[in-house]
Amino acid sequence: MPSPTINLADVKGIWRPVYARRQALHATADAIILAAWRADLHGIGLAPAVAAWRQATGETVDPATQRRRQAAAAAVLGTLSARSWRRTRAALALAAKRAHRAGWAAGHAIVTQDNADDTDFEEPADSPYRIGSPDMTDHTADATAASVLTAALRAGANRAGRAMADSEEDPEGEAEGILGDGLDLELASDVAVSAAYGAGMLSAYLGAGAQAVVWMTAGDARVCNLCQDNETDSPYSLLGAPSLPAHARCRCCLAPA
Ligand SMILES: [Zn+2]
Repeated sequence: MPSPTINLADVKGIWRPVYARRQALHATADAIILAAWRADLHGIGLAPAVAAWRQATGETVDPATQRRRQAAAAAVLGTLSARSWRRTRAALALAAKRAHRAGWAAGHAIVTQDNADDTDFEEPADSPYRIGSPDMTDHTADATAASVLTAALRAGANRAGRAMADSEEDPEGEAEGILGDGLDLELASDVAVSAAYGAGMLSAYLGAGAQAVVWMTAGDARVCNLCQDNETDSPYSLLGAPSLPAHARCRCCLAPA
């Protein structure tokens, strides 16, 4: 069996459209989710959080930096948690569903198409959910969106709280700037999109009756030890394979063994 490494610098055959589509999927998901986040964030106003934090720590005392930051983060999280994040939640659920379908389409092409053939493949038509089908259930998509949002709000509040606590001049503006950059949401949604993509791929392999999969790394100097170990320990049973992604921005893939 040839080495499972993909070599992203020189992608061949079926892996060319698979990776082109995967990149486009992440770019679209990032754009949609960040736009929703900024719309949901609009007019947030962290002044009450600054006030709550100042009250919690006391203006006259000089508490340890860590405690100041924690109190600020808790105050920001309080403000963030009071919002519904309806658009962001919907964008995340949509991105997860699309990623699952894209993963399924890629997996389906990999098991049905000549692997030396680098012509593009189609996305599947809508189908009811069953094991091996292209679609993620609404329930799973909503649950994915909720957990991504929770993680992103907590991480965002921590960073914003830190900026707030460390800023002499403009704690409100600094903290709002941190939230506006959407970095925490971007990282969390990257993981969710990759996980849904990987689940879609496995679903296609399951549907096609594949027995085992191999973990494929990107084959360059940026591959981390965790991913390299996953590749070295291949093959895996379909349900026993480590799940994608191994970390945020993981470029690895699963292929039928
Ligand atoms: Zn990886």
